[in-house]
Amino acid sequence: MQKVDYDLCVVGGGINGAGIARDAAGRGLSVALIEARDLASATSSASTKLIHGGLRYLEYFEFQLVRHSLKEREILLGLAPHIIWPLKFVLPHDKAQRPFWMLRLGLFLYDHIGGRKTIDGSRAIDFAAHQYGDYLQDKYIKGFEYSDCWVQDSRLVVLNAMDAARRGADVFTRTACVNMEPQDGHWTLRLRDTDRGAERSINAKMVVNAAGPWVSGVLEESALDAPDVPQIRLVKGSHIIVKKMFEGDHAYILQQPDKRIVFAIPYEGDYTLIGTTEEDYQGAPAEAKISPAEIEYLCAAFNRSFDEQITEDNILWSYSGVRPLFDDGEDAATSTTRDYVLHEHKEYDAPLLSVFGGKLTTYRVLAEQVLDKLVGREGRWSAGAALPGGDIDGGDFEQFLLQQSQRYAFLPAALSRRYARAYGTAMDVFLNGAHDLSDLGQHIGDDVYEAEIQYLVRYEFARKLDDILWRRSKLGLHVSEETTRALNVLLPQIVQQASQ
Ligand SMILES: Cc1cc2nc3c(=O)[nH]c(=O)nc-3n(C[C@H](O)[C@H](O)[C@H](O)COP(=O)(O)OP(=O)(O)OC[C@H]3O[C@@H](n4cnc5c(N)ncnc54)[C@H](O)[C@@H]3O)c2cc1C
Repeated sequence: MQKVDYDLCVVGGGINGAGIARDAAGRGLSVALIEARDLASATSSASTKLIHGGLRYLEYFEFQLVRHSLKEREILLGLAPHIIWPLKFVLPHDKAQRPFWMLRLGLFLYDHIGGRKTIDGSRAIDFAAHQYGDYLQDKYIKGFEYSDCWVQDSRLVVLNAMDAARRGADVFTRTACVNMEPQDGHWTLRLRDTDRGAERSINAKMVVNAAGPWVSGVLEESALDAPDVPQIRLVKGSHIIVKKMFEGDHAYILQQPDKRIVFAIPYEGDYTLIGTTEEDYQGAPAEAKISPAEIEYLCAAFNRSFDEQITEDNILWSYSGVRPLFDDGEDAATSTTRDYVLHEHKEYDAPLLSVFGGKLTTYRVLAEQVLDKLVGREGRWSAGAALPGGDIDGGDFEQFLLQQSQRYAFLPAALSRRYARAYGTAMDVFLNGAHDLSDLGQHIGDDVYEAEIQYLVRYEFARKLDDILWRRSKLGLHVSEETTRALNVLLPQIVQQASQ
């Protein structure tokens, strides 16, 4: 028999693929993670960025999904307290929408079905007596506060891929799988370098297709689709970013007349993130863009609740992603399940498994179940091992920040916080031995130093400008054109050095 390169090849470097690669590498398998573009370049960087049970899914009786997700919320917070943190949500009661008793009941369930330990429970709020009411229209008299978690979504993907690599996996970005073929009890995969076009083949004993919105396309290209393979439903969701519209660390969850909900969330210090929409989508997943109707919907959703009004002119940035939902035959996109299906293609000698649907929140359990199916339950490990940088004492981020600010007293306070939030304990990797800002290499501009970029290239698989400005960070929102230009000049040199 021909030599096999890997035990497992995972196609797709979104949250599901990265999570599966990490779990598999931790169970001792030799793993290749194949990503056609950059890690998290598709749906996993375009989410609302919540690790949540999904309050509104209770309305669709998805109790099992909500329970699992809420349990996972506590676990993930423990694994990565630097990039995941609790966020309070204010839910104004609107007489024209769901009755007060229904919200109270929903929140009671939310508080109790998911084994809540560290995250605060819900409580009723009187807006006349609380600062939460300061920005809302007078029609809101009372409401609720409850908690979920916020996550830096694309960093969650990168940290999973990094951890997979630390545990021995090979991570190939800008490498597309263009064909998979079963051969003599293993899989041969043809890979294409998406920058240079060069092709090569690798083989693996097992393959997981975690290509998100492309999951069916990957099968079709290799003529591996079959009548029993589940269908995917593509649903576009868009967000807009405007200047900060309210003070405080809390978010608002706004009920809409069509029964959907829209969030207004404090974002990146100076901004408010408003989303999301839901529209069935037929186009190419990578081309998804916000439509005029979505802009109108999101502005109207915000304006229905807040005193200060916004229009299209207030939008500073927007992003859109495509949810790869498992098609359960529901008419409305809103009620289509957010749960996932793991399909085993049993007709082949060598294992092939495709992932349909899912949420960021459930990626770790999804990965665990994929590996259980491939190699059995014995080696489960991922619930107890911190992600890179997440080994923060007691998970106490503010205490950690205080220590790091003292240790690296030469850093401006905002930079210290940014490094701690993005890299957690891994900030020591590029700050160790530095006593002064001049020890961090070239100052590229706007508090961006060469040492950080070196780290991103060396350890976080960053290769291009957008990898750094929009996925490893959200510096794209903060830095000047001059800084962007300077980074664009320096980055290829750093990439070149790293590849030597
Ligand atoms: C608007 C919106 C809001 C959301 N909000 C939340 C939220 O708040 N909380 C939550 O838990 N979930 C949320 N979700 C859901 C969550 O974002 C997705 O379930 C999740 O990101 C899907 O991850 P994935 O890995 O399956 O897909 P993706 O992230 O799309 O990854 C698939 C990857 O496969 C790669 N690929 C495709 N074809 C190939 C190929 N041939 N070879 C190699 N690589 C390939 C792609 O480039 C891509 O990077 C939201 C989704 C959307 C769209």
